[in-house]
Amino acid sequence: MIKLTNISKSFGRNPVLKSIDLTVNKGEVVVILGPSGSGKTTLLRCVNYLEKPSGGEIAIGDFRMNAEHAAKKDIHALRQKTAMVFQQYNLFKHKTAIENVMEGLVIVKKIPKDEARKRSAALLEKVGLAGKLDAYPSQLSGGQQQRVGIARALALEPEVILFDEPTSALDPELVGEVLEVIRKIAKEGITMIVVTHEMGFARDVANHVVFMDGGVIVEEGPPAELFNHPREERTKQFLKRIT
Ligand code: ATP
Repeated sequence: MIKLTNISKSFGRNPVLKSIDLTVNKGEVVVILGPSGSGKTTLLRCVNYLEKPSGGEIAIGDFRMNAEHAAKKDIHALRQKTAMVFQQYNLFKHKTAIENVMEGLVIVKKIPKDEARKRSAALLEKVGLAGKLDAYPSQLSGGQQQRVGIARALALEPEVILFDEPTSALDPELVGEVLEVIRKIAKEGITMIVVTHEMGFARDVANHVVFMDGGVIVEEGPPAELFNHPREERTKQFLKRIT
């Protein structure tokens, strides 16, 4: 279980997250929705310390840390338990698909290269890229690059995968193939927090949907409830605009 308690974050004098509490159960897919600037990406980045929270606590299983005053070893431990899939893929351009996936296994997990290569090939096969192991990012479509990004996250066997708008940089015709892969791994019971504007995906795949606005969680609940019977005016207005 992942438990965020009282997470806050300011950039200078601008409070972007205001005392966020969020619990994600093991195996659950939580989708975070909200208008631009509401703090969705910042929250996700706080969970693996790409942003340093200004306050609060992060707990994953038995691991627990004060988010504002974290020791280096706690930040390291937190990063071992989380993996991020970025909007812009963030692959190493001078490495092939398989080398991108292997990197974390060899450098972070200290797994011997032969074994890392075997595992990475299997993961690339799982995301539908068996024929592209030796391709460089520039030789892959956006959808293929993002699938490498997903294989790379899976390789780390984290307790949670954090998806930051994984399809929003893609041409519309490539969105489906990436969502399909995320859907498939969700079915395997991998815990995920997904920031997305893909409402169909949120409805079908999420166990729990969180609506953020102005740095707070305005409303949360199962997708059927949140989409069909939103309680808060801000949620209603947002859903009206985007559906
Ligand atoms: P979008 O859907 O547009 O990605 P979001 O809900 O993910 O939006 P964030 O990217 O978390 O929103 O941004 C929340 C607020 O924090 C915005 O006002 C943004 O300008 C501000 N912000 C984000 N990152 C930084 C930063 N590194 N420095 C200063 N301000 C930042």
